[in-house]
Amino acid sequence: MTAPNQSGWRPEMQVAENGLLGGPATTTGNRALMLEEPLLFEIGRADVTGVDLPVVDASAPNRLAGLERNAAIGLVGLTEPETVRHYTRLSRQNYGIDLGFFPLGSCTMKHNPRLNEKVARLPGFADVHPLAPQATVQGALEVISQLGEWLCKLTGMPAVAMSPKAGAHGELCGILAIRAAHEARGDAREVVLVPESAHGTNPATAAFANYRVEDIPATPEGRVDVAALKARLEVGGPDKCDVAAVMITNPNTCGLFEKDFREIADAVHAAGGYVYCDGANFNAIVGKVRPGDLGVDAMHINLHKTFSTPHGGGGPGSGPVVLSDALAPFAPLPFVRRQADGAFYLVEEEHREERGPSFGRMTAFHGQMGMFTRALTYMLSHGADGLKQVAEDAVLNANFILRSMEDILHAPFAASGPCMHEALFGDKDFTGGLSTLDVAKGLIDEGYHPMTVYFPLVVHGAMLVEPTETESKAAIDQFITAFRAVVERALAGDEALKQAPYYAPRRRLDETAAARKPRLVFEG
Ligand SMILES: *Cc1c(COP(=O)(O)O)cnc(C)c1O
Repeated sequence: MTAPNQSGWRPEMQVAENGLLGGPATTTGNRALMLEEPLLFEIGRADVTGVDLPVVDASAPNRLAGLERNAAIGLVGLTEPETVRHYTRLSRQNYGIDLGFFPLGSCTMKHNPRLNEKVARLPGFADVHPLAPQATVQGALEVISQLGEWLCKLTGMPAVAMSPKAGAHGELCGILAIRAAHEARGDAREVVLVPESAHGTNPATAAFANYRVEDIPATPEGRVDVAALKARLEVGGPDKCDVAAVMITNPNTCGLFEKDFREIADAVHAAGGYVYCDGANFNAIVGKVRPGDLGVDAMHINLHKTFSTPHGGGGPGSGPVVLSDALAPFAPLPFVRRQADGAFYLVEEEHREERGPSFGRMTAFHGQMGMFTRALTYMLSHGADGLKQVAEDAVLNANFILRSMEDILHAPFAASGPCMHEALFGDKDFTGGLSTLDVAKGLIDEGYHPMTVYFPLVVHGAMLVEPTETESKAAIDQFITAFRAVVERALAGDEALKQAPYYAPRRRLDETAAARKPRLVFEG
């Protein structure tokens, strides 16, 4: 590797790629106004800083009790303008919903209305401190309380725990409440049943809560096999059921509504178990179906998916959990209550007489305030009719894609009827050794963030496309044109697709090596 030149470029990085664009290689590695950007360690210098602090007398007495650093920290610095450019250039290599279509199935990457952002930035919400005296943050507590009420109303459930900070965290909250409920009645059970198509967080949650995870098989139509589930509940005979709970995603990750959910819930309850519903796909049924009517005991709601807050890359989330009467007494602390005089207060200590033996806390404080204000703003600006339309339009858009692709792309469950808010395809018919990965990379060259790939695991080379309700017909038509073109290449065994992407800031990366053997230290 040659040393970076003064502006940081390693010319060989880009030469080949410029060649692929058909033009001559550039000296800088830049492509017109798309600028390359090396790592901070390549362009920064240890003796440079963007801040001008007074020189400290290292020999002066301090209060660090001998723990002061006595060697250089080894971090490089940049000037302020260099810093601004570094991060701005990197941001231009990023992709987000504000740039274009983002059909990442299961993730619900919808437009984030700017009104949400405006409200979340109001100082009374943005600047509150979690330890501020409660009398001074009544408005913030009212937001938590009102949002919780709407979540209960939309789901038809009697109680809600607001503090979990993401979907997976909400799953843990629900499963811990289920564990507490079983333990309270002295009924130790060991097993949680999870369908094969479930999101990886479901079995991980159950295992984390010290349950043994067993698969529930699926029918050829892509739904839970009810007969197999009932047979499993009966193993061991009457009164000997070891199943603590089932965790079922509805609509499921194959993009289908679990029509037999009520029957499943009744069977699980009859066997003394509880029903956890993964509510990540609530976007497809919000305002249309109330999970409480289906026999759900606990369900997390990814506010950042259904109720639209910016998310991704582990970014801010919020996963409130609605609970049935059976589980409500075990909900985590703290929770908001309203006094007779209308003032709000937080219950921070366990009040057995009021709500029973809470299983404990999920977080230090009350949850993600910024997500609460965004989600409540989203609900109030949509209204009941608007939320219902969210579900209807999301489902319509997904079905439009399903029916526009199924003549050329294997759609394993298309015969089961309409899908919900995501369309699922497989790579069965590709030739020449081409696979789903090649189609995903080809879509990047066409300017599209790929759909979710290789999930759910029940479909070979799965492609899970979720357009969401916020895309226009024109945008979806354009996507279908590009998607069809790339799929046609995969069907024809086009060798060139194996090298895609050609035009991305980086060519095809070894993603497996990057995940399994990450290089976390810069070695020059
Ligand atoms: C996103 C998702 C989760 C996990 O939610 P996070 O908020 O990412 O923790 C769980 N199940 C399904 C089906 C999901 O799509």
